[in-house]
Amino acid sequence: MFEYAEPLPNDMVRHCPVCGNTFPHLPASPNFDAPCSGCGGYLWCSQYRVGDVIVLEAMPDRTPALWDVEQVVESLFKHGAVRRIVFDLSHLTYISSALVARLVAMNRRVRAAGSEFVLCGMSPIVREAFDTFQLVKAFTVMETQQEALAK
Ligand SMILES: [Zn+2]
Repeated sequence: MFEYAEPLPNDMVRHCPVCGNTFPHLPASPNFDAPCSGCGGYLWCSQYRVGDVIVLEAMPDRTPALWDVEQVVESLFKHGAVRRIVFDLSHLTYISSALVARLVAMNRRVRAAGSEFVLCGMSPIVREAFDTFQLVKAFTVMETQQEALAK
């Protein structure tokens, strides 16, 4: 389900977005419920960097509290300005309305900090959820991560 079959290039090693702890091997679900072994925080997305863009990848079946979102946003700008944050939803087969609400909050926070916030990798079902809430216009949405990085 959620595994990386190919070894990742060094700069694409996934980190905890809050403490920077690396995930050399992502545990398979259901053990995936475990908190971050670095900071003990709730893991709902992983982070890596592509050039000057920070990519966050949503993990399946996670619903962060608003506090978890705020912790991630705070950590994103800990080292200064970031040109663009790409939030990749491609590991999700569906999305809860709670997570959609968190992403709305995140979009607002990231933009307020002067960065671009781009969603990508929506499956048709995930896309439908955004359409249902008439939120597609509130976000910058790109089809693939490649496009989101190049935009
Ligand atoms: Zn952590």
